[in-house]
Amino acid sequence: LFVVAEGGEGAGKSSALARIAPRLERLGHAIVMTREPGGTPEGSALRSLLLASGRPTWESAAEHLLMAAARVQHVRRIIRPALERGAVVICDRFVGSTIAYQGAGRGLSQEFILQVHAQTTGDIWPDLTLLFDIDPKIGIARSRKRLHETESDEGRFEAVELAFHERVRACYLEQAAAKPDQHCVIDASGSQIEVAERAFNAVVGLLDR
Ligand code: C5P
Repeated sequence: LFVVAEGGEGAGKSSALARIAPRLERLGHAIVMTREPGGTPEGSALRSLLLASGRPTWESAAEHLLMAAARVQHVRRIIRPALERGAVVICDRFVGSTIAYQGAGRGLSQEFILQVHAQTTGDIWPDLTLLFDIDPKIGIARSRKRLHETESDEGRFEAVELAFHERVRACYLEQAAAKPDQHCVIDASGSQIEVAERAFNAVVGLLDR
């Protein structure tokens, strides 16, 4: 089973995943937790190139191709082998992020993104996408707070404007509306515990089906 978490900045998907993975393991499921960009040594190197503050400012198409390159490594070396072993793969961001950020956010054609995805990954799609939906004003405020607290080097969202994040959110909601059976939209405005509970229930619901 392939589960992906998607959402804008500060939606709390990573912290929700960190809470639900051990609970799913206690229910007897083999869980592989991974993330994009990242998930492999090559993907992590690309993540640093893409997200470090003071990073080069990539052209949209270059950014997309670097994300796609990281995804090829990830799908072939981590995701597919884990699914073949029967594990539940939980991935923090996947192609839905590319459609939302590089497509709606940065204006690349969705058709091009879908073509690259189909040809480089064998067109793999999640069985379930948990969409952590949050008003970007709230999400950005949360992310700034976290950045400040952790002194993270990933300063990307600092550089872009609210309208960008509004486009990203709208695109995620469109993706969910287009494939309602494969999406669960989670109201991410609550506490971390509430949001994690909603995500947990959605995944357990699918595992029990
Ligand atoms: O939330 P997470 O830490 O996974 O995301 C890191 C950053 O990567 C986010 O700030 C997001 O802006 C960026 N990103 C992106 N395009 C993608 C995936 C992530 O711009 N396809």
